[in-house]
Amino acid sequence: MPRKLVAGNWKMHGSLTDNAALLAGVVSGAQGVNCDIAVCVPFPYLSQVQQVLSGTPVRLGAQNLSEHAKGAYTGEVSAAMLKDFACAYVIVGHSERRSLYAESDAQVAAKFVAAQAAGITPILCLGESLQERESGVTEAVVARQLDAVLAVAGIAAFANAVIAYEPVWAIGTGLTATPEQAQAVHAFIRGRLAQHDSAIAANVVIQYGGSMKPGNAAELLSQPDIDGGLIGGAALVAEDFLAICRAA
Ligand code: PEP
Repeated sequence: MPRKLVAGNWKMHGSLTDNAALLAGVVSGAQGVNCDIAVCVPFPYLSQVQQVLSGTPVRLGAQNLSEHAKGAYTGEVSAAMLKDFACAYVIVGHSERRSLYAESDAQVAAKFVAAQAAGITPILCLGESLQERESGVTEAVVARQLDAVLAVAGIAAFANAVIAYEPVWAIGTGLTATPEQAQAVHAFIRGRLAQHDSAIAANVVIQYGGSMKPGNAAELLSQPDIDGGLIGGAALVAEDFLAICRAA
């Protein structure tokens, strides 16, 4: 069973002042917690957060990257740039990127490859909308999103990747998948990877994301195929984020 990873996704929140206070709380509480911990922060704060996290067990991540290595892509940020700030992780294919910025499965796959080429572990987000769940196509949607990356990156790439199952209807809504609903999709994802390589499938971290909070984390994290959490709202309150880390 892989070591659990709890990662905070700050989204477009924070300021130099707020970050300093939040990080101080996270770092002081992270000592001795028995899981991997990361915070995925907005680009302008990478330098600040890198400095604060240096020498601590908390790893740094970003929330997005360009699929291109360099060139005329105004406003974009490359994997090599993230590597300059010692990013260990980068989120790819978050549902907000897919829905608000029209990122396609192919583009997400290219971002996944770009991250790994720079030595950064991608956190690949997969998940269905409410309409898709209600239409009974959850597995088909997750399979399509996963297969798009497998086709480009290959199964071996998943030895160095994290997957986050994030039902879109549970992100930021206060609605959480039941442990049984989440476990079923996590098992489906692991099983699909196992069709290619059972050892890689057994070792890949599959996080759950979607309104995970101190009150529901322990039950979700006790499911056999839930190896951590990708945390939005609760990652903005140090005590809540740490409570989830302790539950892991
Ligand atoms: C997320 O943004 O990835 C997320 C899971 O958000 P929240 O925890 O707020 O639902």
